[in-house]
Amino acid sequence: MQSRIFDSQVFNMACRQFDAAAEILDLPMDDRDRTKFPKRCIAVTMPVRMDDGRVEVFEAYRVQHHLSKGPTKGGTRFHPSVTVGEVAALAMWMSWKCALVGLPYGGAKGGVAVDPRQLSLAEKERVSRRYMQELVPFVGPNIDVMAPDMGTDPQTMAWMMDTYSNIVGCSTPAVVTGKPIDIGGSEGRLESTGRGVAYLIKRYLESHGLRPHQATVNIQGFGNVGSHAALGLLGYGCRITGISDISGAIFNPGGIDVHEALRHVEANGTLEGYMEGDRLTNDELLLQKCTVLVPAALERVITVKVARKLKCRFLAEAANGPTTVSADAVLDERGDIEVIPDVLCNSGGVICSYFEWVQDLQSLFWEHDEVLRKLFDILDKARHSVETQKERLGISRRNAALTLGIERVARAKALRGIFP
Ligand code: GLU
Repeated sequence: MQSRIFDSQVFNMACRQFDAAAEILDLPMDDRDRTKFPKRCIAVTMPVRMDDGRVEVFEAYRVQHHLSKGPTKGGTRFHPSVTVGEVAALAMWMSWKCALVGLPYGGAKGGVAVDPRQLSLAEKERVSRRYMQELVPFVGPNIDVMAPDMGTDPQTMAWMMDTYSNIVGCSTPAVVTGKPIDIGGSEGRLESTGRGVAYLIKRYLESHGLRPHQATVNIQGFGNVGSHAALGLLGYGCRITGISDISGAIFNPGGIDVHEALRHVEANGTLEGYMEGDRLTNDELLLQKCTVLVPAALERVITVKVARKLKCRFLAEAANGPTTVSADAVLDERGDIEVIPDVLCNSGGVICSYFEWVQDLQSLFWEHDEVLRKLFDILDKARHSVETQKERLGISRRNAALTLGIERVARAKALRGIFP
């Protein structure tokens, strides 16, 4: 089958990854398309009153990839380049990620084509509430559970949870994860994606005979994921030599003061004007020599051209889909870069979201230490299963992670059969 709804570069990339994994697994032909293509897609246009009185209409989506293992789960992205194909690819990756780390969810993703940086706080609230209002018939704690992604944060989640709760008539914290702790959020959720990335990097460094304090790290993207990865790695003793955001990159071989950079971003919105080291472009940062390169922003930044010139020992994919399929082939051929694939590398976020959902359903909340301990346990288990699969089948680490996730989803579908 060829999808006419989702056809786009990034969706085709997710499909090509799936096809390669299905080949390795020798997945029965009858199971392939129904495992690969998203189950549902909701597309809406949302009129929102702007501060100046105008009504602006935004396009928004929610894609629910599969319903075979539980409710669907995934973040909501506010970004000007959001398309339905991108959201569908991200939903697919959520499915493999959740299955890989053993969560009882199918994947989902949502997105609003809007630049959140151009919105006032009040406008952002209206966009968030309108988005949830449009989706109320299609989401719920046992149907589809939203979370933050690029451009959204705990406050956004609070508005969405409040909107859903007001419409259904009772407080329903479990409809959204990544909420502020005061209204049913989990300890540790905010930093969990970045902390998970840092933890896995540390484990991989160690398994390759390196100590964290010997490692230099360049991070593309200094949002929630990139900044918490930086802080986590700093805590382990790594030297953060490069960081970047929409305003460009900062590179300092002597090490960047991450706390100071964070204070600057808090005060000014971006790294613009932060004067500690050399200014580079985002693309230039990717090519600087380092032990670990962490793309923590958008998809498809590691292209063939970039992959050929990378000077890192590890590529830790904190972003979803940062490496194109052709670039992946270059990395395979080179063989000198250890790739920690996205579905494993950034899974800490959704693992903690799962913890938040469980706590909300039970109204019983855990301590910070307990959350992190459980998070690291799951990451260790997933890492171990990926390494075992990689060795057993003699395949790349990405294909090991993808085949594990895809096989579990396909098995659930085969077991449940087709109804009616
Ligand atoms: N947006 C995050 C991701 O891509 C988190 C999703 C979630 O917590 O449900 O994994």
